[in-house]
Amino acid sequence: MPGVRQVEVIAHRGASGYLPEHTLEAKAMAYAMGADYLEQDLVLTKDDIPIVLHDIHLDTISDVAQKFPKRKREDGRYYAIDFTLPEIKQLNASERFNHKTGKAVFENRFPAHQGSFRIPTLAEELELIQGLNISTGKSVGIYPELKQPEFHHSEQKDISKIVLNVLQEFNYTGQNDLCYLQCFDEKETKRLREEFKTELKTIQLLSDADWMSQSDLQEERNQRLQEIATYADGIGPSVNSVFRQAPRSDLPIATELTVDAHRHNLLIHPWTYRVDSLPKLFSSFEALHQATVLAGIDAIFSDFPDQSVELLTKLSESV
Ligand code: CA
Repeated sequence: MPGVRQVEVIAHRGASGYLPEHTLEAKAMAYAMGADYLEQDLVLTKDDIPIVLHDIHLDTISDVAQKFPKRKREDGRYYAIDFTLPEIKQLNASERFNHKTGKAVFENRFPAHQGSFRIPTLAEELELIQGLNISTGKSVGIYPELKQPEFHHSEQKDISKIVLNVLQEFNYTGQNDLCYLQCFDEKETKRLREEFKTELKTIQLLSDADWMSQSDLQEERNQRLQEIATYADGIGPSVNSVFRQAPRSDLPIATELTVDAHRHNLLIHPWTYRVDSLPKLFSSFEALHQATVLAGIDAIFSDFPDQSVELLTKLSESV
Protein backbone atom coordinates (compact mmCIF):
# COMPACT_ATOMS: atom_id res chain seq x y z
CA MET A 1 0.00 0.00 0.00
CA PRO A 2 1.72 3.24 -1.07
CA GLY A 3 2.16 5.84 1.62
CA VAL A 4 1.69 3.43 4.50
CA ARG A 5 4.80 2.49 6.39
CA GLN A 6 4.88 -1.31 6.40
CA VAL A 7 7.92 -1.87 8.57
CA GLU A 8 7.43 -1.18 12.27
CA VAL A 9 10.13 0.46 14.36
CA ILE A 10 11.13 -0.90 17.76
CA ALA A 11 13.14 1.67 19.72
CA HIS A 12 16.13 -0.44 20.79
CA ARG A 13 16.71 0.36 24.51
CA GLY A 14 14.78 3.59 23.76
CA ALA A 15 16.30 6.33 21.62
CA SER A 16 19.64 4.92 22.71
CA GLY A 17 21.54 6.65 19.91
CA TYR A 18 20.83 9.96 21.66
CA LEU A 19 20.38 9.34 25.39
CA PRO A 20 21.69 6.72 27.84
CA GLU A 21 20.00 3.38 27.06
CA HIS A 22 16.95 2.30 29.05
CA THR A 23 16.55 5.57 30.95
CA LEU A 24 13.00 6.95 31.04
CA GLU A 25 14.37 9.99 29.21
CA ALA A 26 15.49 7.73 26.31
CA LYS A 27 12.04 6.12 26.26
CA ALA A 28 10.15 9.43 26.24
CA MET A 29 12.35 10.64 23.39
CA ALA A 30 11.75 7.46 21.37
CA TYR A 31 8.04 7.79 22.02
CA ALA A 32 8.07 11.36 20.69
CA MET A 33 10.07 10.23 17.66
CA GLY A 34 7.23 8.00 16.51
CA ALA A 35 8.53 4.53 17.40
CA ASP A 36 5.85 1.82 17.28
CA TYR A 37 7.32 -0.21 20.16
CA LEU A 38 9.70 0.63 23.01
CA GLU A 39 12.05 -2.13 24.16
CA GLN A 40 12.64 -3.16 27.81
CA ASP A 41 15.52 -5.51 28.68
CA LEU A 42 14.72 -7.01 32.08
CA VAL A 43 16.68 -8.40 35.01
CA LEU A 44 15.70 -8.93 38.65
CA THR A 45 16.95 -7.15 41.75
CA LYS A 46 17.76 -8.92 45.01
CA ASP A 47 14.22 -8.09 46.19
CA ASP A 48 12.66 -9.59 43.03
CA ILE A 49 11.76 -6.38 41.22
CA PRO A 50 12.15 -6.41 37.41
CA ILE A 51 14.32 -3.45 36.39
CA VAL A 52 15.05 -2.21 32.89
CA LEU A 53 18.70 -3.04 32.31
CA HIS A 54 20.50 -4.67 29.39
CA ASP A 55 22.92 -6.85 31.36
CA ILE A 56 22.90 -8.80 34.59
CA HIS A 57 25.77 -6.44 35.53
CA LEU A 58 25.43 -2.83 36.69
CA ASP A 59 29.01 -1.70 36.09
CA THR A 60 28.81 -0.82 32.38
CA ILE A 61 26.04 1.78 32.75
CA SER A 62 26.25 3.11 36.30
CA ASP A 63 28.51 4.40 39.07
CA VAL A 64 27.99 1.24 41.18
CA ALA A 65 31.78 0.71 41.50
CA GLN A 66 32.16 4.16 43.10
CA LYS A 67 29.07 3.99 45.32
CA PHE A 68 29.36 0.33 46.45
CA PRO A 69 33.05 -0.60 45.98
CA LYS A 70 32.83 -3.59 48.34
CA ARG A 71 29.89 -5.26 46.63
CA LYS A 72 31.62 -6.83 43.63
CA ARG A 73 31.78 -10.59 43.21
CA GLU A 74 35.00 -12.58 42.87
CA ASP A 75 35.02 -11.98 39.13
CA GLY A 76 35.20 -8.23 39.81
CA ARG A 77 31.69 -7.58 38.45
CA TYR A 78 28.69 -5.95 40.12
CA TYR A 79 25.47 -7.94 39.69
CA ALA A 80 22.02 -6.31 39.78
CA ILE A 81 20.74 -9.40 41.58
CA ASP A 82 22.99 -8.60 44.60
CA PHE A 83 21.37 -5.19 45.11
CA THR A 84 17.95 -4.19 46.45
CA LEU A 85 15.84 -1.71 44.55
CA PRO A 86 16.48 1.10 47.10
CA GLU A 87 20.22 0.53 46.54
CA ILE A 88 19.88 0.53 42.77
CA LYS A 89 17.90 3.76 42.99
CA GLN A 90 20.96 5.43 44.52
CA LEU A 91 22.94 4.82 41.33
CA ASN A 92 23.41 7.30 38.54
CA ALA A 93 22.80 5.71 35.14
CA SER A 94 25.18 6.60 32.33
CA GLU A 95 25.77 6.15 28.64
CA ARG A 96 27.32 2.68 28.18
CA PHE A 97 31.05 2.46 28.86
CA ASN A 98 33.77 -0.15 29.14
CA HIS A 99 33.80 -1.17 32.81
CA LYS A 100 37.59 -1.59 32.80
CA THR A 101 38.61 1.65 31.06
CA GLY A 102 35.55 3.85 31.70
CA LYS A 103 35.60 4.82 28.01
CA ALA A 104 32.30 5.25 26.13
CA VAL A 105 31.37 2.35 23.83
CA PHE A 106 29.98 4.72 21.16
CA GLU A 107 32.17 7.76 20.67
CA ASN A 108 29.75 10.37 19.38
CA ARG A 109 26.73 9.61 21.48
CA PHE A 110 25.65 11.21 24.78
CA PRO A 111 28.83 11.52 26.87
CA ALA A 112 29.46 8.77 29.44
CA HIS A 113 29.37 9.69 33.17
CA GLN A 114 27.37 12.83 32.43
CA GLY A 115 23.83 13.79 33.37
CA SER A 116 21.42 12.76 36.10
CA PHE A 117 19.63 9.53 35.20
CA ARG A 118 18.10 6.60 37.10
CA ILE A 119 17.63 2.90 36.35
CA PRO A 120 13.84 2.43 36.03
CA THR A 121 11.71 -0.49 37.15
CA LEU A 122 9.50 -2.22 34.59
CA ALA A 123 6.44 -0.83 36.39
CA GLU A 124 7.77 2.75 36.23
CA GLU A 125 8.36 2.41 32.51
CA LEU A 126 4.94 0.90 31.83
CA GLU A 127 3.34 3.77 33.77
CA LEU A 128 5.21 6.22 31.55
CA ILE A 129 4.20 4.53 28.29
CA GLN A 130 0.56 4.00 29.29
CA GLY A 131 0.35 7.61 30.51
CA LEU A 132 1.73 8.87 27.20
CA ASN A 133 -0.71 6.67 25.32
CA ILE A 134 -3.52 8.43 27.19
CA SER A 135 -2.17 11.97 26.84
CA THR A 136 -1.22 11.68 23.15
CA GLY A 137 -4.00 9.36 21.99
CA LYS A 138 -1.36 7.16 20.33
CA SER A 139 -0.93 3.42 20.87
CA VAL A 140 2.73 2.66 21.36
CA GLY A 141 3.57 -0.91 22.32
CA ILE A 142 6.08 -2.54 24.64
CA TYR A 143 8.73 -5.13 23.83
CA PRO A 144 10.08 -6.77 27.02
CA GLU A 145 13.07 -9.14 26.91
CA LEU A 146 13.75 -11.75 29.59
CA LYS A 147 17.50 -11.55 30.10
CA GLN A 148 19.45 -14.69 30.99
CA PRO A 149 16.67 -16.80 32.56
CA GLU A 150 19.21 -19.60 33.28
CA PHE A 151 21.28 -17.24 35.40
CA HIS A 152 18.15 -16.16 37.29
CA HIS A 153 17.19 -19.83 37.85
CA SER A 154 20.67 -20.49 39.24
CA GLU A 155 20.00 -17.67 41.74
CA GLN A 156 16.65 -19.30 42.65
CA LYS A 157 14.63 -16.66 40.82
CA ASP A 158 11.95 -17.18 38.19
CA ILE A 159 12.15 -14.04 36.07
CA SER A 160 9.42 -15.14 33.63
CA LYS A 161 6.87 -15.67 36.36
CA ILE A 162 7.60 -12.32 38.00
CA VAL A 163 7.60 -10.37 34.73
CA LEU A 164 4.34 -11.98 33.53
CA ASN A 165 2.72 -10.90 36.81
CA VAL A 166 3.78 -7.27 36.33
CA LEU A 167 2.59 -7.34 32.71
CA GLN A 168 -0.75 -8.67 33.87
CA GLU A 169 -1.07 -5.85 36.43
CA PHE A 170 -0.71 -3.46 33.51
CA ASN A 171 -3.25 -5.40 31.43
CA TYR A 172 -0.85 -6.97 28.96
CA THR A 173 -2.29 -10.48 28.68
CA GLY A 174 -3.62 -11.24 25.21
CA GLN A 175 -2.42 -11.77 21.67
CA ASN A 176 -3.98 -8.49 20.52
CA ASP A 177 -2.24 -6.43 23.19
CA LEU A 178 0.62 -4.26 21.96
CA CYS A 179 3.31 -6.39 23.53
CA TYR A 180 5.96 -8.77 22.23
CA LEU A 181 7.82 -10.88 24.77
CA GLN A 182 11.30 -11.83 23.59
CA CYS A 183 14.05 -14.15 24.80
CA PHE A 184 17.25 -15.73 23.44
CA ASP A 185 16.76 -18.84 25.57
CA GLU A 186 14.63 -21.24 23.56
CA LYS A 187 13.61 -23.34 26.56
CA GLU A 188 12.32 -20.26 28.32
CA THR A 189 10.40 -18.86 25.31
CA LYS A 190 8.76 -22.27 24.99
CA ARG A 191 7.98 -22.24 28.69
CA LEU A 192 6.08 -18.95 28.33
CA ARG A 193 3.63 -20.68 26.03
CA GLU A 194 3.60 -24.21 27.37
CA GLU A 195 3.88 -23.73 31.13
CA PHE A 196 2.52 -20.21 31.70
CA LYS A 197 0.07 -20.47 28.77
CA THR A 198 0.63 -16.84 27.92
CA GLU A 199 -1.31 -15.52 24.93
CA LEU A 200 1.07 -12.61 24.52
CA LYS A 201 3.00 -12.56 21.24
CA THR A 202 6.47 -14.04 21.61
CA ILE A 203 9.65 -13.59 19.60
CA GLN A 204 12.43 -16.17 19.60
CA LEU A 205 15.67 -14.22 19.48
CA LEU A 206 18.39 -16.05 17.57
CA SER A 207 22.09 -15.90 18.28
CA ASP A 208 22.89 -18.55 15.66
CA ALA A 209 21.00 -17.18 12.67
CA ASP A 210 24.15 -17.03 10.57
CA TRP A 211 24.04 -20.71 9.68
CA MET A 212 20.27 -20.49 9.25
CA SER A 213 20.63 -17.92 6.50
CA GLN A 214 22.96 -20.02 4.33
CA SER A 215 21.42 -20.76 0.93
CA ASP A 216 22.49 -24.41 0.90
CA LEU A 217 20.89 -25.21 4.26
CA GLN A 218 17.28 -24.74 3.33
CA GLU A 219 16.11 -28.01 4.78
CA GLU A 220 17.80 -27.50 8.16
CA ARG A 221 16.60 -23.90 8.25
CA ASN A 222 13.01 -24.88 7.58
CA GLN A 223 13.10 -27.61 10.21
CA ARG A 224 14.27 -25.12 12.77
CA LEU A 225 11.68 -22.51 11.74
CA GLN A 226 8.94 -25.12 11.88
CA GLU A 227 9.94 -25.99 15.43
CA ILE A 228 10.01 -22.31 16.48
CA ALA A 229 6.58 -21.76 14.91
CA THR A 230 5.08 -24.26 17.36
CA TYR A 231 5.56 -21.81 20.25
CA ALA A 232 6.55 -18.35 18.94
CA ASP A 233 5.08 -15.66 16.69
CA GLY A 234 8.34 -14.57 15.17
CA ILE A 235 12.12 -14.59 15.13
CA GLY A 236 14.67 -11.93 16.04
CA PRO A 237 17.89 -12.62 14.10
CA SER A 238 20.94 -10.40 13.66
CA VAL A 239 20.60 -8.02 10.72
CA ASN A 240 23.77 -9.64 9.33
CA SER A 241 21.91 -12.89 8.74
CA VAL A 242 19.12 -11.18 6.81
CA PHE A 243 21.31 -9.74 4.04
CA ARG A 244 24.18 -11.10 2.00
CA GLN A 245 26.30 -9.93 -0.87
CA ALA A 246 24.80 -10.60 -4.30
CA PRO A 247 26.93 -12.86 -6.50
CA ARG A 248 29.33 -10.90 -8.76
CA SER A 249 28.23 -7.61 -7.25
CA ASP A 250 28.78 -5.36 -4.24
CA LEU A 251 25.08 -5.01 -3.67
CA PRO A 252 23.44 -6.52 -0.60
CA ILE A 253 20.41 -8.71 -1.20
CA ALA A 254 18.10 -10.56 1.16
CA THR A 255 19.00 -14.04 2.34
CA GLU A 256 16.27 -16.71 2.26
CA LEU A 257 15.67 -16.30 6.00
CA THR A 258 12.87 -13.72 5.63
CA VAL A 259 10.93 -15.63 2.95
CA ASP A 260 11.28 -18.90 4.84
CA ALA A 261 10.23 -17.31 8.15
CA HIS A 262 7.11 -15.95 6.47
CA ARG A 263 6.42 -19.35 4.94
CA HIS A 264 6.16 -20.63 8.52
CA ASN A 265 3.94 -17.70 9.53
CA LEU A 266 6.74 -16.24 11.60
CA LEU A 267 7.38 -12.51 11.78
CA ILE A 268 10.96 -11.36 11.36
CA HIS A 269 12.36 -8.56 13.56
CA PRO A 270 16.13 -8.13 12.98
CA TRP A 271 18.54 -6.21 15.25
CA THR A 272 20.29 -3.75 15.42
CA TYR A 273 20.02 -0.73 13.10
CA ARG A 274 22.70 1.82 14.05
CA VAL A 275 23.69 4.78 11.92
CA ASP A 276 27.06 4.88 13.71
CA SER A 277 27.73 1.15 13.26
CA LEU A 278 26.36 -0.01 9.90
CA PRO A 279 26.37 -3.69 8.87
CA LYS A 280 29.46 -4.11 6.68
CA LEU A 281 27.53 -4.66 3.44
CA PHE A 282 25.88 -1.24 3.61
CA SER A 283 27.29 2.16 2.79
CA SER A 284 24.43 4.21 4.26
CA PHE A 285 21.55 4.01 6.72
CA GLU A 286 19.18 4.73 3.85
CA ALA A 287 20.50 1.79 1.76
CA LEU A 288 19.96 -0.48 4.77
CA HIS A 289 16.35 0.65 5.15
CA GLN A 290 15.76 0.37 1.41
CA ALA A 291 16.89 -3.26 1.45
CA THR A 292 14.71 -3.82 4.52
CA VAL A 293 11.58 -2.64 2.72
CA LEU A 294 12.44 -4.71 -0.36
CA ALA A 295 13.03 -7.83 1.73
CA GLY A 296 9.57 -7.53 3.32
CA ILE A 297 10.88 -7.44 6.88
CA ASP A 298 8.16 -6.83 9.48
CA ALA A 299 9.89 -4.70 12.13
CA ILE A 300 13.39 -3.54 13.04
CA PHE A 301 15.25 -2.75 16.24
CA SER A 302 16.74 0.74 15.82
CA ASP A 303 18.95 2.88 18.09
CA PHE A 304 17.84 5.86 15.98
CA PRO A 305 14.04 5.58 15.81
CA ASP A 306 13.57 9.08 14.32
CA GLN A 307 15.78 8.30 11.32
CA SER A 308 14.31 4.81 10.86
CA VAL A 309 10.74 6.14 10.96
CA GLU A 310 11.59 8.92 8.52
CA LEU A 311 13.42 6.67 6.05
CA LEU A 312 10.80 3.91 6.16
CA THR A 313 7.99 6.42 5.67
CA LYS A 314 9.76 8.04 2.73
CA LEU A 315 10.60 4.66 1.17
CA SER A 316 7.01 3.41 1.40
CA GLU A 317 5.81 6.58 -0.30
CA SER A 318 8.12 5.88 -3.23
CA VAL A 319 6.93 2.28 -3.69
CA1 CA B 1 17.27 -6.54 23.99
